[in-house]
Amino acid sequence: MPSTRPKDTTGHLWIEQGEDVVGPVASVALIGPVERLYSYAVPPEFASSLSPGQRVNVPVGKRARLAPGFCVAIDRQPWTATLKPIESLIDDHAFLTDELLVLGRWMAGYYACPLGRTLKSLVPEAVRKRSGFTTVVRASVNPSGLALGDPAARVGHKQRAVLDRLLRADAPVALPILLADSGASRATVRTMEKRGWVRLDRHRQAAPAPDFDHPGVEPDFDLNPDQRAAVDRIAEVTASGVFRVMLLFGVAGSGKTEVYVRAMRRVLSAGRQVIMLVPEIALTTQLVDRLAARFTNVAVIHSGLTGVHRSLTWSAIRAGEKQVIIGTRSAVFAPCPDLGLIVVDEEQESSYKNLQAPRFHVRDVAVKRAQMRSIPVVLGSATPSLESWCNCDRFDHFERIELSNRVRDLPMPAVTVVDLNDEFQSKTGIPLVSRILVQRLRAVLERNEQAVLLLNRRGYANWLFCPHCKQRILCPRCNVNMVYHAPRRELLCHYCHRRTPATETCPDPSCGGRLIRSGGGTQRVEELLNRFFPDANIERVDSDTMRHPRAYARIIADFESRKIDCLIGTQMIAKGLDFPYVSFVGVLGAETPASLPDFRAAERLFQLVTQVAGRAGRADIPGQVVVQTESADAPALLCAVRHDFRAFVTQEIDIRRRTRMPPFTRLTRIVIADPTEPTAQRIATELADLARGVTQELALDDADLLGPMPCVLARLRNRYRYEFLLRCQSAESMGRWLDHLRATGTLNPRGGATVQVDVDPLSLT
Ligand code: ADP
Ligand code: ZN
Repeated sequence: MPSTRPKDTTGHLWIEQGEDVVGPVASVALIGPVERLYSYAVPPEFASSLSPGQRVNVPVGKRARLAPGFCVAIDRQPWTATLKPIESLIDDHAFLTDELLVLGRWMAGYYACPLGRTLKSLVPEAVRKRSGFTTVVRASVNPSGLALGDPAARVGHKQRAVLDRLLRADAPVALPILLADSGASRATVRTMEKRGWVRLDRHRQAAPAPDFDHPGVEPDFDLNPDQRAAVDRIAEVTASGVFRVMLLFGVAGSGKTEVYVRAMRRVLSAGRQVIMLVPEIALTTQLVDRLAARFTNVAVIHSGLTGVHRSLTWSAIRAGEKQVIIGTRSAVFAPCPDLGLIVVDEEQESSYKNLQAPRFHVRDVAVKRAQMRSIPVVLGSATPSLESWCNCDRFDHFERIELSNRVRDLPMPAVTVVDLNDEFQSKTGIPLVSRILVQRLRAVLERNEQAVLLLNRRGYANWLFCPHCKQRILCPRCNVNMVYHAPRRELLCHYCHRRTPATETCPDPSCGGRLIRSGGGTQRVEELLNRFFPDANIERVDSDTMRHPRAYARIIADFESRKIDCLIGTQMIAKGLDFPYVSFVGVLGAETPASLPDFRAAERLFQLVTQVAGRAGRADIPGQVVVQTESADAPALLCAVRHDFRAFVTQEIDIRRRTRMPPFTRLTRIVIADPTEPTAQRIATELADLARGVTQELALDDADLLGPMPCVLARLRNRYRYEFLLRCQSAESMGRWLDHLRATGTLNPRGGATVQVDVDPLSLT
């Protein structure tokens, strides 16, 4: 079906130029798994209101099915018979600023994700839906005058009903009320708007999210020399208007937060905005509250916000009404009109990685955004990622700023390692809490101090075993252990969330042996501790008890007011907590690199132990830490015990260099999942062969390919999973490799099989 040429009654958009008719043509990125951009003619009625970054509906395919997409560019081109016009505008203005469009294009390229899908991920859904805004309609004409003055404009009866309703009201009428009262459709009102008969305006329904416009108490201390030097250096770079990445490296309690605050203020006083990214708001409410209270015009973006608040906050940011934006992943896309600085706290955190396509890392997107704007970005950490650490040695635009001591020269806590293997060889196997830990905890509780215990396994028992038929209870869809949850007496798969009632005996009816529950989780620890310390108030913090952000806020408040003596939790409690009376921290099962199939396992172990240890002894009471482990001689652990980041980095860098792993190489992980195993394997093998072929075709001599092999999680939600890794020395090679694979459609889904692309993967499970 050839499309018709746009009829241009304005007479100056689509004009004849020699043989051709030339006019505005929009490049549209469809929202969906489509790689290429499509061109559409811009009809005259949209010409003045369409700009790049706006969403449009366009006809797609032979049957001209309507599909949404982002207009990403408009330029003048000749009209051809295949060029169809844009059908309608979805948004009345562009949500994406030019800056975000450019950032989105970079992300789509770097993370190998279709552009439309990438752009969609930059704007929160509530913003796209314009939650929190009402559209009001007013009449611009009188229907009687209309019919006389313009015989071409015949007023239909629905349209007349709309006008009658509007003229009856003194004030503008909200669109939903107007539609209900007049029986007209939205399209009717839009047509009337186009003809100039009615005017549509948007109004804010409410104020943006509750603000922290009550500046908190200013601390009464002076910065120490390290802090002052750090603030001055950041301010100097900020003032000079250049892009730079500054890694603020300082142990927990070295006063990084105070450095952020002062550095941010200097930017604000120049009238510019600051984005501060935190790993997870629910876990850092304390930090965020304290921080937010130090500024005015703060927007806090977190998952607990309602759609209305999210949308209103976004538009307030865009209007320049918010100066400080604090938030998790999505805050990196805050549409600040004049961004002056980005701070990424705990830059090594894995929650900065997006788990869906585009699988971006917020820290890296922040660095890119800063580069595009020629502003500095501050990455803060007590345990920087190896990537950031090594970048400081490699690139001129990276630098390290160090805070070498805890403020007020507080000592680091003493760490004791308990080897579970040789301390407790009992019939019941590895115990959950060692004697030493119980002794120390008792002393702490008797002194009325507080304790934090960490175990990275939730549930009651993480494996159930039938001693009779020697079977473990596995999730039939994922092939991983089902976990016993005591409160509801059920078995839960932590991967697909399948739940079944728990039984005492082996589910195989021909066996019926009595199940053994082992691999204790947080619920079991809670039970044990309640038995040991009946008078203590012990609370558990894991994703089972913390379903709602408010639950966490309550626990934090109770812990702060010392109603709670001991918190036991998963890694949720490892970060961000700052309580003066915590003098004891226990790590119940430090998983060791040897037990994890991931080249970053040592790094994670070091980070975890260092982080939780940092929770102890933050004020005047000296802290102590007990780490229970099954391999006490893991080098990463020994470094963490000595609080020796440099020693850890030195040995780890050496390993990464020898094994050719990041940060010395770049990885991209490709995962193929299919309902049948042979298909998954066959496709993985085919794709890997094709990808290998490309390295020769493009002469990528720094590239190789690892695999294919079954994933560690070889089955997930009834799909079999195979993976292979692309590895290159440089990001440039990786980019060329991926571009080629995308352009040839190699990474498109095939039949029922999905193909996931994860550039710079953090997890290899
Ligand atoms: P970090 O972010 O590095 O873990 P914080 O910035 O949270 O450290 O500082 C730890 C504690 O020390 C906070 O309670 C903070 O108010 C306090 N503090 C920060 N700087 C100083 C200083 N120069 N003198 C005294 N106390 C300070
Ligand atoms: Zn499962």
